[in-house]
Order: sequence, then C-alpha cells, then structure tokens
Amino acid sequence: MLKVGITGGIGSGKTTVCKIFATLGIPIYYADDRAKWLMVNSPALQTGIINLFGKEAYNEEGQLNRAYIGGIAFKHPKKLQKLNALVHPAVFVDGENWQQEQFALQVPYTLKEAALLYETGSHKFLDKMIVVTAPEEMRIERVMKRDGLDREAIQDRIARQMPAAEKVAQADYIITNDGQQLLIPQVLEIHQQLLAGS
Ligand code: ATP
Repeated sequence: MLKVGITGGIGSGKTTVCKIFATLGIPIYYADDRAKWLMVNSPALQTGIINLFGKEAYNEEGQLNRAYIGGIAFKHPKKLQKLNALVHPAVFVDGENWQQEQFALQVPYTLKEAALLYETGSHKFLDKMIVVTAPEEMRIERVMKRDGLDREAIQDRIARQMPAAEKVAQADYIITNDGQQLLIPQVLEIHQQLLAGS
C-alpha cells in the first residue's frame, strides 16, 4: 500500500482536492486538523505546551488559547520553533498509527494532507507526493473569502511557506486548481496512475 502526501500553499485547494479523493474511497489523514486536535487531547503534548508557554496556553475549558500562543510565537521565533518541535513529531507518530490501521482496510493507497510536508521533512516518509497549485492572487482571494482574513495576513503566511515553484519541482503529480482546468479529471488521472503503481 502506497503512502501518498498531498500538499500545496495556503488556499491552493488541498482540502477541496482531498474531498474528491475521498469520494473514490481513499482514506485521508488531515495532519493540520489532527495537530489541532492533539494539542488539546494528547496529555503529553499538553504538558510540553504548558512547559513552553505557561498555564495560560489553555483556557478554563481546556481549549488552546491560540491568540496568546500566537502572540508569543510571533515575537519569539525560537518559541515557535520549539512548539513545532513538539507538535510535528506527535503528529508524525499519530499519523503512522493511523497508517497502520488503514492496512487492515486493504485500500490501494492513503493520503496525508498538510500545508507543510516538504518544510517538515515528512515527504521523506511518503512514497509519492501530489502538489496542488493555484495562482497566488486566486489563493489570496479564496482565503480572504473563506477565513475573513486581510490580504497582508495571508501574504505573510505565504512568505513563511516554501515557494510553490519549489514544491512543484519536487512533486510526483501536480494538480492545477486555477478555476479553468477541471479538478475531477486531474484527480482521476492520478488515481489511475497510483492504482497501477500500487
Ligand atoms: P489551507 O491551506 O488554508 O487549509 P487549502 O489548500 O486546503 O487551504 P481549500 O480550503 O481547499 O484550500 O480552498 C480554499 C478556499 O477556496 C475554500 O473556500 C474552497 O472552497 C475554495 N476553492 C478551492 N478550490 C476552488 C475552485 N476550484 N473553485 C472555487 N473555489 C475553490
């Protein structure tokens, strides 16, 4: 069974593309969502985060105080690095456990979706990589509409991610989500190639 990664910059359409793969019966691990879940549900991770940011990292209901953590991490990049050094390995282990569970289901391949698969080095543990791309202006407008963020905040996030061209250069498969090329045929083509190779 192949382990396939799917990535792309903010607003490129990773989640949208994954929904199409899901209709083909492919199990998908949403690493960024799972990271958020683990930060409030993994006792080991919670302890690490409290050691790093203090008790204020969680509110009284046990939810993560994102604004507080974000404020500190923005001012102290080293703290952000340390947070990533806690979260990424936890998500990796969780993802591997999930992977093991999928073996029993006898699916042809699995998908791991995350914004930062190349940046974290996770791609080295995946057999194939799909990169979703879209013109930068389109990504900005889609995220502005989806999240209500302003342009500067999105551009700031884009600047902190690996340039799209570098991801494309390393990809096994590229999906162009520019509003002109249809997504479903592109997904079906990759699906067929993965079935042939698995
Ligand atoms: P993020 O990295 O921020 O999680 P993402 O890469 O997963 O983003 P999506 O959430 O799939 O991107 O897409 C961003 C927004 O753009 C969503 O609101 C989605 O509905 C919309 N969108 C994606 N692709 C298209 C498309 N081809 N046509 C119209 N809207 C689209």
